[in-house]
Amino acid sequence: MGHVEAAPVVTNEEKDVSESLLGDKKVTVVFVLGGPGSGKGTQCANIVQNFGFTHLSAGDLLRAEIKSGSENGTMIQNMIKEGKIVPSEVTIKLLQRAMLESGNDKFLIDGFPRNEENRAAFENVTKITPEFVLFFDCSEEEMEKRLLNRNQGRDDDNIETIRKRFKVFVESSLPVVEYYESKGKVKKIDAAKPIPEVFEDVKAIFSSYGAKQAM
Ligand code: UDP
Ligand code: MG
Repeated sequence: MGHVEAAPVVTNEEKDVSESLLGDKKVTVVFVLGGPGSGKGTQCANIVQNFGFTHLSAGDLLRAEIKSGSENGTMIQNMIKEGKIVPSEVTIKLLQRAMLESGNDKFLIDGFPRNEENRAAFENVTKITPEFVLFFDCSEEEMEKRLLNRNQGRDDDNIETIRKRFKVFVESSLPVVEYYESKGKVKKIDAAKPIPEVFEDVKAIFSSYGAKQAM
């Protein structure tokens, strides 16, 4: 239902992609999860260059939606400012549209799902279950330092909002990681190390995954 609505004009080409997104199992999704400042975006950029995935950052898609002046923009902006989780239907629509537009069939979905409701809604709407979940494990102390030192002009990178985001992460997002852990799908990375060292670990995971697929 919802998937076709995501693209305003559905060409034949897009229709094919949307059908393959739903029906068969050719679409590969890896969820990249971890606290704010754990390095998800940085490492995703590295993975894209080496392994042919399309990187979809849920947070970036939401920020682009604010900038586009959409009717949801103000609501999204207020929620991000408070570190709250935007309603699933909004985020899932943006993700579906980006997947369709990419033309790719391999996706890194970064910063989503952030709670159990996000997770269940995504799986129900798209019928996609992730290949695996890459989990960046990092202490709050280290993440806080990184967020306060990065200068991306984000109005949620202040200490007050950062504390709220940590709380939401622990209360709402870690249960998603635990859910996938119970399915044996979590690949945990020590994300407190320097960027190149973390990428070595990330590379090892994607290489062994790729090798497995080729057999
Ligand atoms: N956000 C959301 N749903 C998502 C992803 C992001 O509601 O699926 C909102 C949420 O308010 C979050 C903010 O966007 O605190 C920033 O998310 P992002 O992943 O960009 O940053 P992170 O907290 O991981 O550094
Ligand atoms: Mg990010």
